[in-house]
Amino acid sequence: MYNVVIIGSGCAGLTAAIYAARANLKPLVIDGHEPGGQLTLTTMVENYPGFPDGILGHELIENMRKQAQRFGAEFNAGIVTDVDLSKRPFTVTAGSDVYETKTLIIAAGASARLLGLPEERPLLGSGVSTCATCDGFFFRNKAIAVVGGGDTAMEEASFLTRYASRLYLIHRRNEFRASKIMIDRARANEKIEFVTPAIVEKILADSAGVEGIRLRHPETGETRELEVHGVFVAIGHDPNTAAFRGQLPTDANGYLLSTNGSKTNIPGVFVAGDVQDHRYRQAVTAAGSGCMAAIDAEKFLEEHK
Ligand code: NDP
Repeated sequence: MYNVVIIGSGCAGLTAAIYAARANLKPLVIDGHEPGGQLTLTTMVENYPGFPDGILGHELIENMRKQAQRFGAEFNAGIVTDVDLSKRPFTVTAGSDVYETKTLIIAAGASARLLGLPEERPLLGSGVSTCATCDGFFFRNKAIAVVGGGDTAMEEASFLTRYASRLYLIHRRNEFRASKIMIDRARANEKIEFVTPAIVEKILADSAGVEGIRLRHPETGETRELEVHGVFVAIGHDPNTAAFRGQLPTDANGYLLSTNGSKTNIPGVFVAGDVQDHRYRQAVTAAGSGCMAAIDAEKFLEEHK
């Protein structure tokens, strides 16, 4: 029987593990399908406080993991397939392992949707990005493509014009899912060129990184190439909530809802990081909410001795 089981090993889960372990709660962290979370998909992290020269994403995660282990956190490399939150202790199933726990911290994250091109994932952090706030700075005075037609794509396109020399907004349809005000703002921006309808067929890259993209017109099949050095894929995120469906309330996009800090409507179940946050999605905010969840779990255990 565990005091705390933490689902997810990104910034939020590992910070929760550091706090819970330091409170002597001997937490168990279940890694999930993307151990280390989204930071492992990026290269340099320059906006995490305390690292004036930046730090590599995987190094930051590795440090957090070591820090949690130093205080006694346990790790399991499984993927959670099922939870039973109907009674305490809660049960958590990861493959053939079943754990009982007095409290649960869900920090399962959200996964950025990718276009599904074979070259895309290997280029993450080397010209392909899923986060403008994180990586925009690396593309000063360069031509950039943003792919997507929702609010995120519009917002990231407008944001990235502070760095980009030229910005192409690529969308597969002529109509946009984004709100009118966001579209109007992007259209009014001189640096942004809308390229629609266009499907990204290939990201062109050499050893120095991204060199361009090849686009295909969905109806005519005509192809064209654009010279860009950065490709921001902004086609949405999917919160990793399949294992909790029907047991915890979510918003319309599937993100878990919390009240009063990290609490859910089930006493003893707490949430942290991107699984409950589609707004900020930053390493530092995920870490902050992981801290909150661990403190809330600790208080809960105190009150329910
Ligand atoms: P959305 O799901 O709203 O939009 C995703 C976009 O990506 C769509 O235009 C979709 O195209 C396109 N897309 C999806 N899959 C592919 C694919 N495989 N290839 C090419 N294009 C693809 O996601 P967002 O992240 O933009 O927004 C999520 C939520 O967050 C929304 O509710 C949004 O309003 C909100 N949000 C609000 C903001 C604000 O108010 N400031 C800022 C950012 C987000 P298609 O339309 O053809 O399906």
